[in-house]
Amino acid sequence: MSRLLHGIGVGTGSATGPVARMAPAPALPAPRPVTDPAAEAAAVREALRAVADDLDERAARATGPGAEVLSAQAVMAADPVLADRAAALAARGTDGAHALAEAFDGFRAALAGAGGYFAERTADLDDLRDRAVARLLGLPVPGLPDPGHPYVLVAEDLAPADTALLDPERVLALVTVRGGPTSHTAILAKALGLPAVVGCADAARLENGRAVLVHGADGVVEPDPGPDAVARAADAERRRRERLAGFRGPGRTADGHPVPLLVNLGAPHELAGAAAADAEGVGLFRTEFLFLDRTQAPDLAEQAAAYRQVFSAFAGRRVVVRTLDAGADKPLPFATRPDEENPALGVRGLRTAARDPQLLDTQLAAIAAAAEGGAAQVWVMAPMVSTPQEAAAFTARARAHGLPVAGAMIEVPAAALRADRLAEVCDFFSIGTNDLAQYTFAADRTLGPLAGLLDPWQPALLSLIATAARAAAGRGRPAGVCGEAAADPALALVLVGLGITSLSAAPAALPGVRAALAGHTLAECRELAELALLADDADDARRTVRSRLGEG
Ligand code: PEP
Ligand code: MG
Repeated sequence: MSRLLHGIGVGTGSATGPVARMAPAPALPAPRPVTDPAAEAAAVREALRAVADDLDERAARATGPGAEVLSAQAVMAADPVLADRAAALAARGTDGAHALAEAFDGFRAALAGAGGYFAERTADLDDLRDRAVARLLGLPVPGLPDPGHPYVLVAEDLAPADTALLDPERVLALVTVRGGPTSHTAILAKALGLPAVVGCADAARLENGRAVLVHGADGVVEPDPGPDAVARAADAERRRRERLAGFRGPGRTADGHPVPLLVNLGAPHELAGAAAADAEGVGLFRTEFLFLDRTQAPDLAEQAAAYRQVFSAFAGRRVVVRTLDAGADKPLPFATRPDEENPALGVRGLRTAARDPQLLDTQLAAIAAAAEGGAAQVWVMAPMVSTPQEAAAFTARARAHGLPVAGAMIEVPAAALRADRLAEVCDFFSIGTNDLAQYTFAADRTLGPLAGLLDPWQPALLSLIATAARAAAGRGRPAGVCGEAAADPALALVLVGLGITSLSAAPAALPGVRAALAGHTLAECRELAELALLADDADDARRTVRSRLGEG
């Protein structure tokens, strides 16, 4: 293995620690003849017991919402009916792995058939099956590792379900083999303020327990770092934190031009941290978490209760609610079709409302009900708007529900190119640079090998942002950025120079952005924006701007 491993850097800072790998789900081996059915049945019971004990122990140690999920899973694994069924199959001559798989499959079918809440738990059963089969076969148990000490998590990639269980007290940094700059792992790393390197192919060869130094900003993983390198990185990290702690309050440039700094919010367990953050509100409230892992949309009352919690946590501040963004990387059985050949180009985002208007109307009614009484300044916006007509229809529906401030996300190049027309019918824009990059470059945002195209410093992306910002300014409308681009301090300066009026990012990213703004005037931001637009490519833009800032 070469000395340094390279990938795509995410987040800021660095961290050192031992590797703990996330093991993949075990493949079921070919059936094998059973010579001692009684021993096979005992092994099956033992595997299930071990899984339940392990989950119980983890639940006792976990903090936050993960503890509840783990306890519920432990109860399922300890179900005597499940153990009896698997053991009976083994006693009749089915080998242990297949006996477990068959018993779980029976439960799974029953749960799926029950619909509603029960059907939503089938993914948990699949996870338990994989754990039990791995135990029985003596393979590494899949899922998040728990070595009993803080660690650097190394995984193929992280799914949204893994992220709920990730304990920020234990995980020092993230390294994934796959994933791009706007993948779930990258978004999670920023939300937790962890350094991460994604799309790092060589990480597949990092063994458990090996010490690594992870540099988030540079995308470098250093295996077996010497004491000097560790001390240098720790010192730089300490100085960085001290410097950032010196800046507080509303975002503004050195000459006082206000740039509201807002947080992105995407899961209930993020609410307390987001509300406590030094931020002027929520710039992107991703409402999908309420709908994910469901077979039916939550009703108006359930939605309103969830929105009300957020609005009261942000009383007096702005909350920009994005309506349901189903499809592509967020498929939902009741909103999107499973048979689309190109889901990223399919009926997703606002487009689902054309097929099922009730879904959007219920959500808007729930937001309006929760907003009543005015705890927060509630704005609503639609994802994946492509035409001025779509934007006009959305704002009209929002207003019909009594929601006066309605806007469009700019995530599709067509919307950016016709932003002057969109600005006539919207109160504001919020530019989703993750999807805008994906659609501008026809590059799947989840693919590591396409990270270069998805780089938010791409001048073509910056041109579209400039077009949208100019159109908004022409009609006196705000135009914020809520994609991952807003989390990069140097790029934030460029965005402000392009005419962006607010920036929304994970709470952990805001101090760096605030400090960068405080150090530069609006005129300097405009100069940096010019340089970036004139650059040959993303690397050139980043290098040129950083060297002008004295960082390169
Ligand atoms: C975006 O596309 O930039 C965005 C903010 O939305 P999401 O990442 O939720 O698709
Ligand atoms: Mg998007």
